[in-house]
Amino acid sequence: MPLLIDSTSKDLSPWIEGIKKELNGSDRIFTWGELENPEEITTAIVWNHRPELFSRLPNVRLVCSLGAGVDHIMRDPLLPPDVLVSRVVSPYLSGPMSNFCLGAILYYQRKFDQYLIDKKNKEWHQEFNPERNFTIGIMGLGELGTDLAQKLLPLGFDVYGWSQSRKHVEGVTSYVADELELFLSSINVLVCLLPATPGTKGILSRPLFSKMNRGSYLINVARGHHQVNEDILEALKDGTLAGAFLDVFPEEPLPADSPMWEHPDVFITPHIAVVTKREAAIPQIVANHFRVIAGEEPENKVDRKKGY
Ligand code: NAP
Repeated sequence: MPLLIDSTSKDLSPWIEGIKKELNGSDRIFTWGELENPEEITTAIVWNHRPELFSRLPNVRLVCSLGAGVDHIMRDPLLPPDVLVSRVVSPYLSGPMSNFCLGAILYYQRKFDQYLIDKKNKEWHQEFNPERNFTIGIMGLGELGTDLAQKLLPLGFDVYGWSQSRKHVEGVTSYVADELELFLSSINVLVCLLPATPGTKGILSRPLFSKMNRGSYLINVARGHHQVNEDILEALKDGTLAGAFLDVFPEEPLPADSPMWEHPDVFITPHIAVVTKREAAIPQIVANHFRVIAGEEPENKVDRKKGY
């Protein structure tokens, strides 16, 4: 049963090479342009696939994301309702993501933002309290959020999590969906690691900021879908937020005329918090292809009802 790989935004050549190697001759992989018998395809491997893809794959049973997120798949109205969807879960994703978040948290906690300004002004401020007192809140205590929480604890941070269902992560206070206010009132650094679903669209906006402690920090490493740029700028202006460390934006690349570029309290990275490692993803994808052919469930299966 051959596989199809499709993306409108990724260079697929190294992926195809890696998948062929992993298949070791036991199956063939096609791109859209090479597809002669679309009815043969049971597994589609995608990242921002072309909109008409599923109209041409009548027998697809498994759709594999090339990364951790599946919003690019779930938003497709042509996605067949009973098709299985899998994503990548790996320490090769959670490790670099946690390192990125730790870097952002420590940057603010050790006041590096302030020392950059001091350097520009040639000012020497030797403080006797050189650390900010931080309590970290992680929105989305899933694969990535839990890894970050577990790495923050040994560094001495108090850690709170917010998720749909109550979590039992040693040392972490877990709040659920209707306890958002309590969660926000307990923290002064908010890290967003939520999936992009209709329920999380625009969540990082004025109503949420109005429940945060004054002078809090925001780190968004999930999706631009979650954030309202204008509300972040407003929250920085009125002092609700002291800084925003943003890896993702509603429009990417961030347009050159966005006021975010000029804002001194916005730190911008170009959606690179973590990039999927092919060595981690390919064995999972190929194994799931054969699992589904054998009538088994794929690993790291997405809950179609929840949308992540
Ligand atoms: P995950 O394991 O599915 O975890 C998602 C967490 O969010 C779960 O704890 C879930 O709660 C919670 N959640 C979902 N909807 C919620 C809601 N409406 N209210 C409260 N909590 C909610 O996902 P993951 O592997 O940690 O990845 C998270 C996201 O990171 C991905 O979806 C992707 O968009 C993003 N990401 C970004 C980058 C980057 O480079 N910037 C890289 C990789 C991933 P329950 O467990 O109770 O259901």
